Amino acid sequence: MKKYNFNAGPSLFPDSVLEAAAKAIFDFDGTGLSVLSYSHRTPEFEAVVEESKSLFKELLNIPDNYSIYFVGGGATTQFFHIPANFLYGKAGYINTGVWTKKAIKEAKLYGTVEVLASSEDRGFRYIPKGFEIPADLDYLYICANNTIFGTEYKVDLDSPVPLIADMSSNILSRPIDVSKYAMIYGGAQKNLAPAGVTFAIIRNDMLDKIERELPMMMNIKNHVDNNSMLNTPPIFPIFVLRESLRWIKAQGGVEEIHRRNEEKAQMLYAEIDRNSLFRAPVDEADRSSMNICFVMAEGKESLESKFLEFAISKGMVGIKGHRLSGGFRASCYNACPKENVEALVACMQEFEKMYK
Ligand code: PMP
Repeated sequence: MKKYNFNAGPSLFPDSVLEAAAKAIFDFDGTGLSVLSYSHRTPEFEAVVEESKSLFKELLNIPDNYSIYFVGGGATTQFFHIPANFLYGKAGYINTGVWTKKAIKEAKLYGTVEVLASSEDRGFRYIPKGFEIPADLDYLYICANNTIFGTEYKVDLDSPVPLIADMSSNILSRPIDVSKYAMIYGGAQKNLAPAGVTFAIIRNDMLDKIERELPMMMNIKNHVDNNSMLNTPPIFPIFVLRESLRWIKAQGGVEEIHRRNEEKAQMLYAEIDRNSLFRAPVDEADRSSMNICFVMAEGKESLESKFLEFAISKGMVGIKGHRLSGGFRASCYNACPKENVEALVACMQEFEKMYK
């Protein structure tokens, strides 16, 4: 049976990226050696890092005063790297769910955290707006797309203090104005690479703000200065990341990927809104285009496990919502084909006919 993968991450890849990855396991860029056994301190691997950086720069129009680096440890490691490097007095955090809560907890180890706004009062189903940003903060921290609760900032915030954003689950899904951010980072395992590599884009003046004496691997400047090779980098994930970036470029860049993402998201949200058995719990303006959450309509709650069973029987994979949010979640990242969303919509329509 054909499977339709909606996992929240690690996520799916275009076939061409998988084919390139499979080929490189036997022959990395025509070297005759496996990428899995290749030394990172070689011109061939350095070329992979350089091309990945320049594709990132090109695809997101990253200004020249920014550096890009790749590192292991996942986004969770950045939860403490960021305050360790940049928090000396106070930082502002916007609490929009699990991933900001974890980041806030880590930041408190290094300084004062002011939670400037939170959406916890309504189960994290919206993005707070209109909050004041004090001018004396070391930085303002947001999670641009909340993978678990399905909310997303649809605009790049204006911030009087350095803005740091976790874009683990929406990087390269839409054009962004990088110049509004001091740092953008994320685990790459949703839109770009297998688990194991974290990307970071940082404005160079941030590197001069690092005062604390830190272990070598924690100091962000070391990663920039050593061109992502402070230690053995995650070679295979970085290789696949390059292939994903090449794929995005070949598709027509981030604008085209964004068009497709909006088409998929609108198709699924339209069905959720139309179908009498389901509803979307997130405020319309803040609905994520990547992680599309839905729950049973009022009075239809008892059908939840039946729908899950039915969807699995139709080949849907990974649509059960996170245990903290319940219901369902279809993650429709860049590489998710429109066909997958069409199959899920058909499945919801068939279920409605059975239980209306
Ligand atoms: N931030 C967001 C938005 C996430 O979705 C996740 C993981 N799903 C993380 C951070 C944590 O990432 P990692 O597992 O790479 O540490």
